[in-house]
Amino acid sequence: MNLESNVANNFRIVQEKIELAKVSAGRLDANIVLTAVTKTKTVEIIRCALKVGHRVFGENRVHEAMEKWLPLKEQFVDIKLHLIGPLQTNKVKQAVRTFDIIETVDRPKLARELAKIFNATGLPLDCFIQINTGDEKQKSGVSPKDADIFIKRCINEFQLPIVGLMCIPPIQDEPSLHFALLAKIAERNGLTQLSMGMSTDYKVAIAFGATEVRIGKNLFGARSSF
Ligand SMILES: *Cc1c(COP(=O)(O)O)cnc(C)c1O
Repeated sequence: MNLESNVANNFRIVQEKIELAKVSAGRLDANIVLTAVTKTKTVEIIRCALKVGHRVFGENRVHEAMEKWLPLKEQFVDIKLHLIGPLQTNKVKQAVRTFDIIETVDRPKLARELAKIFNATGLPLDCFIQINTGDEKQKSGVSPKDADIFIKRCINEFQLPIVGLMCIPPIQDEPSLHFALLAKIAERNGLTQLSMGMSTDYKVAIAFGATEVRIGKNLFGARSSF
């Protein structure tokens, strides 16, 4: 199979599996966003996904995203690009110019900087707060014990348009515990969107209320690094 039909086939399979997961979760009417994660992948592969009509994508590095996506966004005006990796404050301006949604708000310094840039541009982007549900040292995200206070600060003090929460469960753990925790924190804070579930666990995430799944490998094949 060539690259183009391979990618088209993968999209069909993943979309079917999402529909099946919705049925088993009793969430037939749920609208679940499929964010196609293209980190490390070439523009040639991305064009295959655009060709099957897909428009929602995720990248985790600002510079890589600018190089690949700024030209594509001129050509396809309805692309929605999600930032799903850590954001340094000195890259916020470039990130806001490149992405449509920021999923990784995780500390006051970043929230303050985003607020500043949103005010300057007058075009705030929808934001998710990343929760480090496993309290892992090497992972970014707010600790669950600090989540309620940080969410309230983002909304009230920084006035960010917070639409939901995002998490990446520890690889060695049963993911359902983390998805359930994320759903609980969102619910008690009145947030409705849950970005959770990747290639290996999106079915479980949908059972626990995911409104967005972020999938790379199952659509575009394995990556050589991270
Ligand atoms: C890479 C990545 C994904 C996609 O992971 P796959 O295992 O390739 O599906 C999802 N979310 C985040 C935050 C990522 O960095």
